[in-house]
Amino acid sequence: MEQQQKPDFLFLGGDVALDFVNTVMVVGGRPADLIATPADLGAWLRSSPIAAEFGAPTKVDESVHEQAIGLRSAMRDAFSSLAEGRPVPDAALAGINAVLTDSPGTELRSTAEGDIVEVPRVDLAHDDRWTSWILADAAAKLLGSDLRRRLRRCANHDTCVLMFVDTSRSRTRRWCSMELCGNRSKVAAHHARSRPARSTREADERSV
Ligand SMILES: [Zn+2]
Repeated sequence: MEQQQKPDFLFLGGDVALDFVNTVMVVGGRPADLIATPADLGAWLRSSPIAAEFGAPTKVDESVHEQAIGLRSAMRDAFSSLAEGRPVPDAALAGINAVLTDSPGTELRSTAEGDIVEVPRVDLAHDDRWTSWILADAAAKLLGSDLRRRLRRCANHDTCVLMFVDTSRSRTRRWCSMELCGNRSKVAAHHARSRPARSTREADERSV
């Protein structure tokens, strides 16, 4: 059986909640789920910013993975609605709320700077059950902040489904990343200018 090399995880959404939703991306023209298995989810958690704050499991339970995948759908519905200027569907909020219902509680921690902070009582390295809660909490913080007005989908609509928070000062970020889509688009525009006949045909093909 042919083994296709999985692409690296991307952390370019500007928020870990978006990075989690962005684990479904288009690879070679087809949708690809980068966290299709519990082991994949574990690998994603270990490379995500969540690991530094809340630890990361060495092994993810199947039920934990299943819950995370369901949550991801609800989060994607919520974020993509906002990115398209529509209100967040009730079902999407309900899907996120269902995960938030069961809370791990909080605890106080001393920081290296001598401050004391209140944080969720979560250590995923020893207990992976709160994986979805941490992600739903990140989604809730994003949806409940002004940043929700800056949710965008990559302008490369034909082949890219990635979303991001536009935190640029000018609010004009268009691409998930310059490397993935920005340069590709510039190259396409350059070809369009230098080979008008062919590019018109390509544009027609793309629009169907
Ligand atoms: Zn893109």
